Amino acid sequence: MTAATERRLAVFDIDGTLTQTAHVDESCYAEAIRLEWNVENISTDWGAYEHSTDNAIASEVSRTRRGRDATTEELASLRDRFVGLLRAQLAREPGLFRETPGGARVFAELRARGWDVAIATGGWTPSARLKLATAGISTDRVAAAFACDARPRADIIRLAMSRADALAGNLAARVAYLGDGRWDLTASRELGIGFVGIGTGVRAQSLAEAGAAHVFADFYDVDRLVAALERVAAPPCTKPDRCRS
Ligand SMILES: [Mg+2]
Repeated sequence: MTAATERRLAVFDIDGTLTQTAHVDESCYAEAIRLEWNVENISTDWGAYEHSTDNAIASEVSRTRRGRDATTEELASLRDRFVGLLRAQLAREPGLFRETPGGARVFAELRARGWDVAIATGGWTPSARLKLATAGISTDRVAAAFACDARPRADIIRLAMSRADALAGNLAARVAYLGDGRWDLTASRELGIGFVGIGTGVRAQSLAEAGAAHVFADFYDVDRLVAALERVAAPPCTKPDRCRS
C-alpha cells in the first residue's frame, strides 16, 4: 500500500469534544448517583478517577462511598436514571445540548478530505446517542464504542478502531484521537496514536501543558484541523509493552 492510499482514521470523544455537553453531563451524573445511591457531592474531577468512563466512575464511587462494588443491575439502573435526567433537562433547556461549533459537519468534511471517522466515548451508549442526535451529529456508518463496551478509555478507543477497520474492510495505517480531557491524551499515548485537543480557556491550557501540540476551540477551520491530524496521526501500537505510557 502506498502512502497516498493509506487509510487514516480520526476517532472522536463526545462530551466536550463533538458536543458542548460536559456541564449537563456532569450535573445529571452526580444527581443520578445521589438519587440512586443516596451518595452526595461526588467529585466531578473525572481525571481523578482511575478511568474517566461512566461505568468505571460509578464503580469507584460505589467502592469508596458505599464500601462495596456496584452490581450489574445497579449500574444499569443508574444508567437509566442518568438518561432520564438528561431527557428531562433536554426538554427544559435544549440549549445545553449544543454541538461544538462545526461539530455537526466535521465528519463529512473529514471524509471529503480522505479521513475516516469513528467515535470512542467514556459515556454510556443511550446517553451518548441522545447527545449526538440532539446536537444534529449524524452517526450513519460511523463506527462507535461506548462505556458499555469497556472500562479503560484506551480499550474503548481500541474497540472503536477495530470496528471502523471492520466497517471499512481495511486496517487504518495511522490514527489520531480528538478529545477535551487530559485522560484522552493519556489514552492516546497508551495506544501510540496521535492526539488533537479540543477546548478553550483553562481546558485548552491544561491540554497544552500535558503535551498536546495542537488544541482547537472548534471545528470551523477543517483545513487547519486536517493539517494537525496529518502531523500527529500514528500507527496504533500493537505491542503493549512497547507503547508509550
Ligand atoms: Mg470529553
